[in-house]
Amino acid sequence: MLETRTTCPYCGVGCGVIVESDGAQITGVRGDPEHPANFGRLCTKGSTLHHTATRPITLQARLLHPAQRLSRQSAPQPVSWDAALTLAAERFSRTIREHGADAVGFYISGQLLTEDYYVFNKLAKGLVGTNNVDTNSRLCMSSAVAGYKATLGADAPPACYDDVNHASTLFITGSNTAFAHPILFRRIEDAKRANPAMKVIVADPRRTETAEFADLYLPILPGTDVALYHGMLHVMLWEGLVDHAYINAHTHGFEALRNRVRDYTPKEVAKLCGITEDALLQAARWFADSKGRTLSLYCQGLNQSSSGTDKNAALINLHLATGQIGKAGAGPFSLTGQPNAMGGREVGGLANLLSAHRDMGKAEHRAEVARLWGVDDVPAKPGKTAVEMFEAAADGEIKALWIACTNPAQSMPDQAAVHRALERAEFVVVQEAFSTTATCRYADLLLPATTWGEKDGTVTNSERRISRVRPAVPKPAETRHDWDIVVDFARRLERHLRPGLPTLFPYDTPESVWVEHRESTRGRDLDITGLSYARLEQSPAQWPFREGDTQGKERLYEDGIFPTADGRARFADVSYAPVAEPRDARYPFSLNTGRLRDQWHGMSRTGTIGRLFGHVPEPVVEMNAQDLARLRLSEGDLVHVTSRRGSVVLPVRASDQVAGTQAFIGMHWGEEFVSGSSATGSRIHGVNALTTPAYCPKSKQPEFKHAAVKVLKA
Ligand code: SF4
Repeated sequence: MLETRTTCPYCGVGCGVIVESDGAQITGVRGDPEHPANFGRLCTKGSTLHHTATRPITLQARLLHPAQRLSRQSAPQPVSWDAALTLAAERFSRTIREHGADAVGFYISGQLLTEDYYVFNKLAKGLVGTNNVDTNSRLCMSSAVAGYKATLGADAPPACYDDVNHASTLFITGSNTAFAHPILFRRIEDAKRANPAMKVIVADPRRTETAEFADLYLPILPGTDVALYHGMLHVMLWEGLVDHAYINAHTHGFEALRNRVRDYTPKEVAKLCGITEDALLQAARWFADSKGRTLSLYCQGLNQSSSGTDKNAALINLHLATGQIGKAGAGPFSLTGQPNAMGGREVGGLANLLSAHRDMGKAEHRAEVARLWGVDDVPAKPGKTAVEMFEAAADGEIKALWIACTNPAQSMPDQAAVHRALERAEFVVVQEAFSTTATCRYADLLLPATTWGEKDGTVTNSERRISRVRPAVPKPAETRHDWDIVVDFARRLERHLRPGLPTLFPYDTPESVWVEHRESTRGRDLDITGLSYARLEQSPAQWPFREGDTQGKERLYEDGIFPTADGRARFADVSYAPVAEPRDARYPFSLNTGRLRDQWHGMSRTGTIGRLFGHVPEPVVEMNAQDLARLRLSEGDLVHVTSRRGSVVLPVRASDQVAGTQAFIGMHWGEEFVSGSSATGSRIHGVNALTTPAYCPKSKQPEFKHAAVKVLKA
């Protein structure tokens, strides 16, 4: 039996996994006891990884050779790699020549490895000359990015998992950690057992498993997070709980925020948020306890919102106001949804970012990246973000789309608009490991990629820790690694766009890509010039890890100096704004969507394992029992759940997790499970037939966490 150390591909906890194989087939997995993210533990998803990789079962769901569709109605026909990539280069170069660089777009994924991400970003911004490269991380983390940058000056989570063991108060807000980050939640349970005095506050519209664990549960109404945080700050000011010495020494902008939160009285905030004044007071006092340490953990409840950036920033305000940052057990800590959304942020693989946390808006930063890449310049105009990219394709503005390792035909909000975009786009390339995703059927060209267990590279987890991903078994013969596909395509495209010049893509291994990425970080806040693949063989490591360092930094800002022009953090003077689509008489329920414990994304991997359906066997819409009685519905009745954009049919289930006038549907179920239609009657499936494309104006992250719906018996 062979053993390979690698990293779980599911979530941002980034657990270490030891894979057992016979050299041809993965036969088992167990947690890596030496990996600092999990110390040997795995959750239900991680511990069943080998079942998702067992051949030949998995091969039935795999894309195994390149294929071209001569018309959208016809079946894809196998073609050689040479023919496929030659065609792709011709179609992309023709589109660029006839319509400009911004007529093409690359929509990629937080599941790609950092090396894959790096070459995609360079392909778009360095070779093609467009910033139209965005990722499904836009749907997951872009509000956290914008929130950190607005307040602390850089997109750098300042805390680490070990802070859970040093905190005296945990403020879990907008995160069902128990389901979405199970191994981190095990740490929280351990910390509470070791220190029963540790206070756990959970703020969430749903009474989740995480909320059940709380000493204080705040069942806030959907979208009222900013009001809650401002209300807490109001109480802290009133009761003299803020840390003026920290504020004066390390921040700017408190005066304006103090004036703003005067209006957020406990009475008003309690009413707005749907909680009691006593609960608000208690939360503020526990958070600001000067003898203790407060760690905030947060995720999509804050991020997937039309005011996501402001929610992030208003929470960080509380840490700055109380000096609860830069010390063990204290700080704002965004939890990453995807396994490598962090790596994508590091290489600048989003439409508004540049490599190594550089700003697209700064000429000197663009010049640095251009110099590094050996090109004249990189474009200054921000590219289309996820929702904008598909809107532009639906409008005919983007004509050629390259989609890699993600399934927008299920996962994007407002599916009717996304399907229109995929139909209208003149040339769609789908680079994917699985043939079963809904997006594959829109592909003019299908490129078979390798997947977990076969790939080689690095990922970064929520606590800035870089881990190696290693291949345990050989890849299926005709599949290729994501970075390799991109490099081959880029070299062919270069013959059209810069003939006769040396290639910008001289890579022959993932390590050679990573070495260039490493150099791009020199002198930046995420400097990893002290790391190497060889060093990562010893153990995963956190950034920054500068040349000469012997270890990375556990937590940031311990010296009170922030990565801003004058070293001070900035309070964000933001105001509460309600959800983009409030409930009304026609659509009287607030729909929330989210993760289930045992499923992952659109189920392309977890949906192949029977035992993972044991927890939740089928999709349902969960509602409060009183609402069911009012609507004369019984458990199991089929209902139409309808928003302004579409409708789905589901059985209804009574749940005491869901408050009155609210509804919840798991996000994972696609067309095999949830039949639906768009508002115009076309067949659109899954919960995202209902969700709104409204997004945060600062982060452009869509509001998956709230849509107004009606529920009627089918
Ligand atoms: Fe994988 Fe996340 Fe579970 Fe860890 S907690 S085993 S990374 S899914």
